[in-house]
Amino acid sequence: MRIPFIPPIGCCSRCGRAIEGHEGEYLCLDCERNKPFFDRAASAFRFEGAARELLLGYKFNAHLWLKDDLSDWLEACIRAHFAAPSVDLILPMPLTLFHRIDRGYNQSAYLAEEVARRIGRKCRDDILKRTGRPKRQAGLDEEERRQNVKGTIAVRRPEFVRGRTILLIDDVMTTGSTLSEAARVLKLAGAWRIWCATLARSIRS
Ligand SMILES: [Zn+2]
Repeated sequence: MRIPFIPPIGCCSRCGRAIEGHEGEYLCLDCERNKPFFDRAASAFRFEGAARELLLGYKFNAHLWLKDDLSDWLEACIRAHFAAPSVDLILPMPLTLFHRIDRGYNQSAYLAEEVARRIGRKCRDDILKRTGRPKRQAGLDEEERRQNVKGTIAVRRPEFVRGRTILLIDDVMTTGSTLSEAARVLKLAGAWRIWCATLARSIRS
């Protein structure tokens, strides 16, 4: 089985998208036009092929025995892209209430807790909260996605994020609009830097 890992060089220095033929600091066109609110994002592998099947099995069918391998890959990604000792707090992206009831567990919270333990940082799942449910993002352009997710995430207990470097954890990043919205409200609440690590990166055609 081949996992399509994303090498930690040659990526957009803001959103983490792999860009052929580039090394060092580089901003992709999307980020140049419309900077996300997070400071940096990185993903372990591309959301395709066997890696996609694994992740969907973990996410929707509770294939929890995959947790160790997925945590290995996420940990390696975090260590390659971020100064792990500078992270003050790790936050999993929250599920909507609907998804929590439907699925019974938050797969990002599982992963966030595991990598937090491994790199020796604190993790809290009671800071970010979904306050609404956006419409489906598919078919929307960048600006419509931003508007669609605006106001759907809130920060509880801002005293824990003020002045902090926060690492957000999620399973798949598509355009990053939801992570950007979380970063926006965290910065409004006084957070200093927002980094995002996701297992997979969905590449738009
Ligand atoms: Zn970018």
